[in-house]
This record gives sequence, structure tokens and C-alpha cells, in this order.
Amino acid sequence: MKGQELDVAVVGASMAGLMAATHLPKNLNIAIFDPRKTIGYPFRCSGFINKKSFDEFNLPKRAIQNGIRFLRVVHCNQHILFDTEGIAGYVTERPMIEEELVAGIEKNGVDVRLGEGVKEIDGNSISTRKGIYSAKYIIGADGAGSIVRNSLGIKNPSTTLAVQYEFEGEFEPGEAIIHVAEESMPYHLWVIPINEHVARIGKRR
Ligand SMILES: Cc1cc2nc3c(=O)[nH]c(=O)nc-3n(C[C@H](O)[C@H](O)[C@H](O)COP(=O)(O)OP(=O)(O)OC[C@H]3O[C@@H](n4cnc5c(N)ncnc54)[C@H](O)[C@@H]3O)c2cc1C
Repeated sequence: MKGQELDVAVVGASMAGLMAATHLPKNLNIAIFDPRKTIGYPFRCSGFINKKSFDEFNLPKRAIQNGIRFLRVVHCNQHILFDTEGIAGYVTERPMIEEELVAGIEKNGVDVRLGEGVKEIDGNSISTRKGIYSAKYIIGADGAGSIVRNSLGIKNPSTTLAVQYEFEGEFEPGEAIIHVAEESMPYHLWVIPINEHVARIGKRR
């Protein structure tokens, strides 16, 4: 069965997929698929974006929560403070950025199909639980367990676990902190302040 014909099917409507759909020619027949029903959630990110990328991709300023100037790198009992003497990057409300990207691509006629994950890919044919599509090009932007990558016979990369919460406390609002793994603490830990009272603190092995 041939199904609905598309020029481009973008698999995954997170940052990579939305950004790809934003930059594709507007005259193409494009659909973007994602099993998530609400764009941007679950929100699994500290939201830090370096200033150069933020500016280059013209991301929405209303998503900025904080500006970071200093980076403190801690290892064992020592630390180094880097001062960028300006704004190195922004802490952002990432779902807001994704919402704005969706609004932009919808305006350009991209069919945003939320709640519709891709189940199977066979050559140019894509099956979801709602239908079958044939696409001239398929863009794989479906994250760590990519079905697009699997369909090409490429093994998934090894993954690592990360946890993160928003904590209340007292923080230097312009300073991000990275604790580099050491023997007594075999994981990286980061502190990304949203303001002087709240920070996203996470760790990964
Ligand atoms: C705790 C944590 C904090 C982080 N903090 C930062 C940070 O501060 N700054 C930074 O730059 N990066 C950060 N990252 C990394 C960043 O989140 C990822 O690099 C980024 O999300 C990758 O974007 P992506 O679009 O490639 O994939 P993802 O964001 O993983 O999106 C993949 C999308 O594909 C969809 N999908 C999956 N399977 C299918 C399917 N079968 N069909 C259709 N769609 C599918 C998913 O629902 C999802 O929407 C952090 C990561 C974690 C875990």
C-alpha cells in the first residue's frame, strides 16, 4: 500500500526535528511525527543554550530565563572559575522555544502530527498507528532509540542515565557549576541557575 505521499517525513518533533522542518523549503509537502501529545513535554533539559547558537538560530527571546556569564568547574577540592566577560549563554524555558518553532512551521504548511509516533519504516514507507505514508525523504530526529537509525541497520549508541530536578536554595544567578567526576563521586553534576532562588541540578554517570 502506498498511502499518503509526502516529500519529507520528519520523525521526531523535538529540537532537531523542529529545526530541520523550519529550514526545509516551504514549497515541499512535509509532515512531522511524534508520539508526544504536548510539544516540549516531558521537559528533560536544563535549557542552557550558548549565546552564539541562540542568536544564530534566532530563537525567541521570551524563552530566556537567565543569562550565564561564569562557569565554575569543580574537581576534587579544586575549582576554576571561567569568566566570559559577557553573556556566554542563556538558561531557557525550552518548551516555549519548541512551541514557537511549531507555530512557525505550521504557518509554513507543515503538517504537525502529534500523538502519532512512527511504528515501522520500510524503505520509503512509514507506518504509524493512524496511517501509512510514503516519503521521498525521511529525516531521523527521533532521539536516542531512533527507529529511523534502526531501519537503516545502524546500531543505537550506548546511552547513559541522567536525573535532574529544580531545587530551591541560594544560587549565584550568573554562574553555572559543573562538578567533574572523581573517584569518590563517579558522575558529573551540574547546577544551572534560573535565578538566585531556583536552579536545575542534575547528574549523569
Ligand atoms: C537532564 C538533561 C539535561 C540536559 N540539558 C541540556 C542543556 O542544558 N543544554 C543542551 O544543549 N542540551 C541539554 N541536554 C541534551 C538535550 O536535551 C538533547 O541533546 C536534545 O534534546 C536532543 O534533541 P533531539 O531533537 O535530537 O532529540 P530528543 O530531544 O531526544 O527528541 C526526540 C524526539 O523524537 C520523538 N520520538 C521518539 N521515537 C519516535 C518515533 N518512533 N516516532 C516519532 N517520534 C519519535 C520523541 O518523542 C522526541 O520528541 C540535556 C539532556 C538531559 C537528559
